[in-house]
Amino acid sequence: MNAPLDLHDLHVHFPGRGGAPIRAVDGVSLSIAPGETLGLVGESGCGKSTLANAVVGLLPPTSGSVRVLGTELVGASRATLRAMRARVQMVFQDPVTSLNPRMTVGEAIGEPLLVRNLFRGAALRTEVARLLEEVGLRPSQAGNYPHQFSGGQRQRVVIARALALRPALLICDEPVSALDVSVRAQVLNLLVELQAQHGMANLFVSHDLAVVRHVADRVAVMYLGRLVELAPRDALFATPRHPYTRALLAAVPEPDPVVQRAKPHVPLTGEIPSPAAPPPGCRFHTRCPLAIARCRSEVPAWRMIGETGVACHVAY
Ligand code: SF4
Repeated sequence: MNAPLDLHDLHVHFPGRGGAPIRAVDGVSLSIAPGETLGLVGESGCGKSTLANAVVGLLPPTSGSVRVLGTELVGASRATLRAMRARVQMVFQDPVTSLNPRMTVGEAIGEPLLVRNLFRGAALRTEVARLLEEVGLRPSQAGNYPHQFSGGQRQRVVIARALALRPALLICDEPVSALDVSVRAQVLNLLVELQAQHGMANLFVSHDLAVVRHVADRVAVMYLGRLVELAPRDALFATPRHPYTRALLAAVPEPDPVVQRAKPHVPLTGEIPSPAAPPPGCRFHTRCPLAIARCRSEVPAWRMIGETGVACHVAY
């Protein structure tokens, strides 16, 4: 079976001031298996949202390969892109800007089905009602407008719209970070349940490691446009290999003060460098507490330590 998503050496660059390109995504390879959730984490500006937008077709890749269910999207015809884009749907961070305020939620959910001529009339209304129920809303709410819903309910509407075309791959870009803390867990649990029911793969982009730990099967860590570590979730949280991953995990507060006091202190100092002028060698060397001379000139190769892939000269 073809992977819902297969990226090979993906680059997404933008023109920068002074001629140097901004290397937002700079050589990322990964794949997602059917039904799997891959969490993609890293600080703001690491390129994770750019990667998500390139997969869904909102940004053009500079080079590399994006395969969805075995079909190459880079350089594909408009007809192929249109057919494959139905199989990849995105849930954005902000449900307010994701929905047209002048459309009822029923119209918003039904629009992709109408545009692709899949349902009309009474059958369309029945399908919209089913989708509303699937995300925990009432069919009678189909005639309401987005402003009549809470933030959590609006994100449920966005999820229903994304599910309408029965995608093989769902891309969630910080889907709960704009919501009240009190409803985040409900929306996350809904995503996990729907994924299990439909067998969708999920690329789950978040800066919040606690959220990723809740939903992901594997976790990929990005720094300055590149992957630095990719591991099964439990392996990554129990035995992080890359110094950057360790620093990210050390910064996650523990609810238990005893556990918090026992956590290793891994300082992560300084700002993330500009993707227009990434440091030579290992891009993390300007902030890494374990950097050695070699790190300043030699790009670390990707290698496997057990089930964990890591790009670091000294990780073990
Ligand atoms: S390669 Fe060197 S600078 Fe980069 S993470 Fe490993 S130890 Fe740190």
